[in-house]
Amino acid sequence: MSLNIAIDGPAGAGKSTIAKAVAAKLGFIYIDTGAMYRAVGLGAVRRGIDSSDAEGVISILDDLTITLKHTEAGQLIFLNGEDVSAEIRMPEISVAASNVAVIPAVRLKLVELQRELAQKDHVIMDGRDIGTYVLPNAQLKIFLTADPKARAERRLLELLEKGVNTTFDEVYEDMLYRDKNDSGREFAPLKPAEDSVMVDSTSMTLSETIDHITTLARQALEKN
Ligand code: C5P
Repeated sequence: MSLNIAIDGPAGAGKSTIAKAVAAKLGFIYIDTGAMYRAVGLGAVRRGIDSSDAEGVISILDDLTITLKHTEAGQLIFLNGEDVSAEIRMPEISVAASNVAVIPAVRLKLVELQRELAQKDHVIMDGRDIGTYVLPNAQLKIFLTADPKARAERRLLELLEKGVNTTFDEVYEDMLYRDKNDSGREFAPLKPAEDSVMVDSTSMTLSETIDHITTLARQALEKN
């Protein structure tokens, strides 16, 4: 049986950095589901389709093939065979991802892929609906949050390090837009699973958060 850990939470809570580190400690595969929604968003933008136009997005969905590859450096994501791992991080693609993520047909396509991956391997998967919808039987579910301003600060540093030209205000606005969109959608919205463990990282350092979640994971996995 494969073991699964779900980490959900709003944008910029540090899910991907933390999930990647915990996966390395436990020898699990880290799966970034946000990258899949970003790849669909990118596919729409490249074809000149408005990401909020559900009919338009649905019309190209069958032409978008999304594949993942796991390397030492982490997950790479391919859109129709092209490595788009860097391009999907652009701020305009964050918004497109959040818009296409509202469309049930998009979610169903990606959830199928996510469940297949979780069945094959021990995985830590991060996203918005992993504990509530994608992997309801995960051995551990974490809901990771932090104060919105702290999240925007962290996301800003991350983007600047990647060479993306942006400002605090831009990142903060984008984050609030996505949080509202993600929590407000009807199908599989962002919310804590009833049996999730809440972790607020506002006043925790990165390594404290990683250690805390690794301990929770070890405790949960011992029971299985
Ligand atoms: O995690 P990340 O910020 O890269 O996700 C980009 C967008 O993809 C989110 O704002 C959200 O709208 C969507 N998403 C989702 N469900 C997931 C993962 C991401 O709706 N499981």
